[in-house]
Amino acid sequence: MCGPNCQGKPNVKQITVGGQSVGISGFDEAMACGLAHLKGSDSEQKKALMDELKKHNYVPESREAEYAAAIWAEFKPLRSKQMGWLDDSYHGIPREEIEWHPSIDYSKCSSCGACFKFCKRGVFTFGDRTEVTNPARCVVTCTGCLSSCKEGALSFPTLVDLREQLKILREKYNLGK
Ligand code: SF4
Ligand code: SF4
Repeated sequence: MCGPNCQGKPNVKQITVGGQSVGISGFDEAMACGLAHLKGSDSEQKKALMDELKKHNYVPESREAEYAAAIWAEFKPLRSKQMGWLDDSYHGIPREEIEWHPSIDYSKCSSCGACFKFCKRGVFTFGDRTEVTNPARCVVTCTGCLSSCKEGALSFPTLVDLREQLKILREKYNLGK
């Protein structure tokens, strides 16, 4: 259960699943369940979406991955809006394809949680140890949390590496120079 938002009469929305238009019952309830897990990781949000979707719809096991991808694609813009994020792409390139996020050197990290508290985008989670669990939420070119780490345990790709990546991805998506 995700809370009161998930209850009520299921509604239906047509979405594209594996290239086919499919009517999804309880669409709004599934979205509400995802939003109820905003503080969790992407995988927790994906699970919440699918758990709710499966309560209202028959999902063949062989097509589960397609349904999961489809409902996730519907959810991401809603999440971005809710969180005040711009979108899930960077100059036309899907954000998830860009390797830009902090990495933690655990030989230096004291698990103080300062980076977790600093980042408002939910890139880090703070449990037994601090981890980068949502790397694609990191704003491309942001290095804000570096200053929060007194141990010098955080690092980012270089801007040269980033430029090289973007060049390759622009070619892949025919986005010009
Ligand atoms: S660089 Fe910015 S967006 Fe990325 S994790 Fe650090 S504070 Fe968050
Ligand atoms: S701020 Fe630095 S030391 Fe503290 S949890 Fe983050 S990476 Fe580890």
